[in-house]
Amino acid sequence: MWVLCDREPVREWSRGRVTLLGDAAHPMLHYLEQGACMAIEDGVSLANKMSEADGDFAAAFLAYQRARYLRTGRVQTMAREVYHASDVVRELRNAMLVDLSAQQAYESMAWLYDYVGA
Ligand SMILES: Cc1cc2nc3c(=O)[nH]c(=O)nc-3n(C[C@H](O)[C@H](O)[C@H](O)COP(=O)(O)OP(=O)(O)OC[C@H]3O[C@@H](n4cnc5c(N)ncnc54)[C@H](O)[C@@H]3O)c2cc1C
Repeated sequence: MWVLCDREPVREWSRGRVTLLGDAAHPMLHYLEQGACMAIEDGVSLANKMSEADGDFAAAFLAYQRARYLRTGRVQTMAREVYHASDVVRELRNAMLVDLSAQQAYESMAWLYDYVGA
């Protein structure tokens, strides 16, 4: 047994020529099964920003963090608040989902699974 930990989203992952990715930048609960997926997306984004930066890694790291923090923050928040809700939040979630068709439920996750990247 081990403790599951997440954190409120933050937007500062980079300082100078140091940056973070994966769980170090945005630890999340596993209820969306996305921690490793977000780490892989981070890697792609970081590689893209570095290849565009002409050797200015500090600028690349800031561009990478700007491209990533809202998406990863959304996953952190959704995993915590929607998929592991309790009490009133759970009732609210259920009320929001109960009338969705299977297709609508699928489409409601398009922001996550149809992502093309930045
Ligand atoms: C129960 C559970 C289920 C999950 N299911 C999924 C899933 O289905 N899909 C999904 O996408 N994600 C899932 N995840 C999340 C996923 O496992 C993590 O988000 C992912 O492993 C993060 O990768 P990372 O490289 O950022 O960190 P880590 O995988 O934690 O890698 C960090 C590495 O750094 C090493 N390290 C630490 N300190 C030092 C040091 N001082 N010096 C050298 N090395 C060090 C560690 O030993 C470790 O190997 C799940 C997580 C849990 C807990």
